[in-house]
Amino acid sequence: CLSMSDLNGEHKICVCVRKRPLNQKELTLKDIDVITIPNKDLVMVHEPKQKVDLTRHLENQTYRFDYAFDEATTNEMVYRFTARPLVETIFERGMATCFAYGQTGSGKTHTMGGEFSGNNQDCSRGIYAFAAQDVFSLLKQPAYKHLSLQVYATFFEIYIGKVFDLLNRKARLRVLQDQNQQVQVVGLQEREVRSTEDVLRLIEMGNSCRASGQTSANTHSSRSHAIFQIILRRNREIHGKFSLIDLAGNESGAGTSSSDRRTCHEGVEINKSVLALKECIRALGRNKPHTPFRNSTLTQVLKDSFIGENSRTCMIATISPGMVSCENTLNTLRYANRVK
Ligand code: ADP
Ligand code: MG
Repeated sequence: CLSMSDLNGEHKICVCVRKRPLNQKELTLKDIDVITIPNKDLVMVHEPKQKVDLTRHLENQTYRFDYAFDEATTNEMVYRFTARPLVETIFERGMATCFAYGQTGSGKTHTMGGEFSGNNQDCSRGIYAFAAQDVFSLLKQPAYKHLSLQVYATFFEIYIGKVFDLLNRKARLRVLQDQNQQVQVVGLQEREVRSTEDVLRLIEMGNSCRASGQTSANTHSSRSHAIFQIILRRNREIHGKFSLIDLAGNESGAGTSSSDRRTCHEGVEINKSVLALKECIRALGRNKPHTPFRNSTLTQVLKDSFIGENSRTCMIATISPGMVSCENTLNTLRYANRVK
């Protein structure tokens, strides 16, 4: 059995892809499914190419990942192969991160926050909740019970480099680095939780806070990163931390009006943060001494999770199956491919 310190860089990072089914809108518009998952670690994109003679043909591209989940895979199964193996890490004094990355509408929030039925989201069936559940069950096990760990949760959002507390009416918070080079989000609410039910209440509260004050459901929240953290403390000191992140949509200006300057600013900021994220994950995987976390607010607030010796991460790249989304899907796959 490997101990965490034996892990080489390669094993610290897990990258997988999740394809969602075609939705009603795509079916109505007669969009076609251009993605196949022929194997549990392969993704094939059948990219439509217009030839000179104007006949259409499909050009196949294949990408390999640690896991590829098809449209029939449940959240529970995705969890089991992605975030579940990282829960032990935080009990072993480590830091864990799990990211959902992909274009808006590809299933990031569904995966992390919980399955939707219509407009209702079942928070108990998402990676946030599954992770919390396993934290509470591990807490009771003999191996960890004697540590008398306490569990806390935070939930916040980063929008154009600014931090907002989702457990405190979106209060704007400052990010500071103290003399010990520790990054702090000043005043961030950290709530003690004693059960999965406590966690579910916080998730619901944060979700409704995240959605509040928006004219349409798909504006602000799809352009911000949401960060949910489960923190283990022992005698006040941090013992381990699990950060679960629903990243901002990675689409490149699709469907946005160029006249809206804020939109442009959003896009630039999102690009900057996902590039910084990729660099930090790569540095972690290569056990590099220097982690370029300063390049964005997202990587700054996750600094302690990237520099620790016992840090592990997993990325779930979510993709839409439709031909209409092909370009964004290829961008997502290329990014995910380069993270490791
Ligand atoms: P994102 O957060 O990436 O913008 P969402 O998670 O909000 O995307 O998903 C968009 C829509 O697609 C939601 O209505 C959701 O229910 C549906 N959806 C996403 N992933 C799946 C999936 N794996 N299975 C079924 N429906 C899904
Ligand atoms: Mg979302």
